[in-house]
Amino acid sequence: MNSLRHNGIGMTSQRTRSRMIERLREQGIRDEVVLAAMNAVPRHLFVEEAISHLAYDDKSLPIGYGQTISQPYIVARMIEILRDGKPLNRVLEVGTGCGYQAAVLSHVAREIYSVERILPLHERALNTLKELQLMNVKTSYTDGFMGLPEAAPFDGIIMAAAATHVPQVLLDQLPVGGRMVMPLGAQEQILHLIVRDEKGLQETRLETVKFVPLLMGRA
Ligand code: SAH
Repeated sequence: MNSLRHNGIGMTSQRTRSRMIERLREQGIRDEVVLAAMNAVPRHLFVEEAISHLAYDDKSLPIGYGQTISQPYIVARMIEILRDGKPLNRVLEVGTGCGYQAAVLSHVAREIYSVERILPLHERALNTLKELQLMNVKTSYTDGFMGLPEAAPFDGIIMAAAATHVPQVLLDQLPVGGRMVMPLGAQEQILHLIVRDEKGLQETRLETVKFVPLLMGRA
């Protein structure tokens, strides 16, 4: 990524980003901390230059290797649910993809750990996040089905890919007070919130979503 790319689209991107924030408000996103984070991250730098003019549309876009960057609304919504209006300390994201959601999370939590199973995506995200100097994001090339035991527990876990069941290992890395947001299901996927309290796990079904599947093993 060269500076021309930053400057070239930079002029218009702040305006387009402001429009995206207005749209997110209309779509029901209320958390000002999340809206400010979405406003701070240059989403166009996370997609290929050829489609960067589409970066602020409310769409998911291809990022290669059969994967996608999630649409702005769903990124904002998941982080809003994860935060629940309170500061987050340590967050695990499963499915770094291009690194966009990790970058947004870096503005709302103290430390972000993000894992990706596809090596070239991991490497590209690492470079983009480094270029943006987001020092509180640590990315790993690993299978998210394992969680990240060396950094656990996490007060927030966010899954960017859909599983058919909640991986037990991830629940083991969620302490009392911890919150996990994840899409569950195969054909029909529903966004779930799982909260661990003193009594156990409380599960809430939220809304219908469409994510790429959570796959096992590194690729
Ligand atoms: N958060 C991303 C969305 C990426 S799409 C963004 O902002 O762009 C979901 C990602 O999850 C894909 O890159 C896919 O490779 C990854 N993924 C799927 N199964 C995984 C697993 N078991 N461990 C780690 N990453 C996984």
